[in-house]
Amino acid sequence: MSNATRMNDALQPTGHPHPLLADSQPREHTAPTVDQLADALPSAVDAALRRACPDQYTPEKAARIAATVVADLTAQPAGPCPVYRDCVDADPGHYDHYNHGIRVTADDDGATILDAGMAAFSGDSEDERRPVVYLRNTDYHDAASVHATTAKLRALLDQVDAMADRVFADHGARGAVPAGGAA
Ligand SMILES: [Zn+2]
Repeated sequence: MSNATRMNDALQPTGHPHPLLADSQPREHTAPTVDQLADALPSAVDAALRRACPDQYTPEKAARIAATVVADLTAQPAGPCPVYRDCVDADPGHYDHYNHGIRVTADDDGATILDAGMAAFSGDSEDERRPVVYLRNTDYHDAASVHATTAKLRALLDQVDAMADRVFADHGARGAVPAGGAA
């Protein structure tokens, strides 16, 4: 079925309010999925435009606006994974999402100085599916917690820079012998 046909079908009156638009029935507090929202949008936009801007309303214009919003909502992210943009698993239909690729290593021996990444596993419960962003050995479950910690890390790195400037300046002023033995 083409998009235009689907859109046209969606715009046909059904005689009853779409479940997402009906607010008289008490219902469970579950958030609608993007697919459900995309299904509900054409008729919602049509009704809203007809009511709010009757002089500008045409079915085509309403359909065009809805299609733009739906396309924006359902756009595939740029990465190989359709679920998490940061996931590096390119296998179609994979269940577990991860990226362990953010790290700084030492130039000499390649030892990890700091690493970070993300993981999100499939599971039956919301808890199991909750994604994690980690820094070294600490897991974070929301962006605000990550930002709070990275802010401290930025301050720490500034302190390290300032310390390095002082230490090596002081060392130079000390007239130290070169490393490896007496001059
Ligand atoms: Zn993935």
